[in-house]
Amino acid sequence: MNIILLGPPGAGKGTQARHLVEARDMIQLSTGDMLREARTSGTEMGRVVADVMDRGELVTDEIVIGLIREKLVGNRAGGFIFDGFPRTLPQADALAELLAATGEKLDAVIEMQVDDAALVARITGRFTCGDCGEVYHDVTHRPAVEGVCDKCGGTNMKRRADDNEDSLRQRLMEYYKKTSPLIGYYYAKGQLRTVDGLAEIEDVQKAIAAILD
Ligand code: AMP
Repeated sequence: MNIILLGPPGAGKGTQARHLVEARDMIQLSTGDMLREARTSGTEMGRVVADVMDRGELVTDEIVIGLIREKLVGNRAGGFIFDGFPRTLPQADALAELLAATGEKLDAVIEMQVDDAALVARITGRFTCGDCGEVYHDVTHRPAVEGVCDKCGGTNMKRRADDNEDSLRQRLMEYYKKTSPLIGYYYAKGQLRTVDGLAEIEDVQKAIAAILD
């Protein structure tokens, strides 16, 4: 089964994707994670990507489609969760072509709906465990022991360079201009399903499970 998690920054795509990886043996393909890795590579591409990401703008379609293309080769386990991809109509068309080329299809596009005020609060307090990726929040989800990951015991907590209010506003602008048209695109294809991204994490998990089952 191949699915897309669609929604603005802070909607909870990464958190839900991580749960699906554990619960259903699916493979999470987060272009954001791939780009964060690329920016530490010391290459020219890494430097360009870092600038664009810090401004909260979108990296070119060519770069992200190239990253996804590489990942679609080989192991498929329980299928792919596309997290943060596609973000533009050309990326959506490219994904359809890439899947068709391997005889695969998209089974569902799950839109996670949230309101903008909630996003600002969620994003500006967010930090993650650099070792296992568990997501925390200054107000709503602190680790039991300050600075120590509940899940893996790691002490390498990280905040994203673009999780500040200025970058977030730009990221939201990009979402509404370039990514939200995908909602109509997938609706027209009969693939769009919607969940309430403001519900408790476990309730969002259940809503997604109901769609996938
Ligand atoms: P994310 O971790 O999904 O919030 O992505 C972080 C940043 O990476 C975004 O603000 C963009 O600069 C870049 N990015 C991630 N995915 C894409 C994509 N599919 N297309 C263009 N830029 C992307």
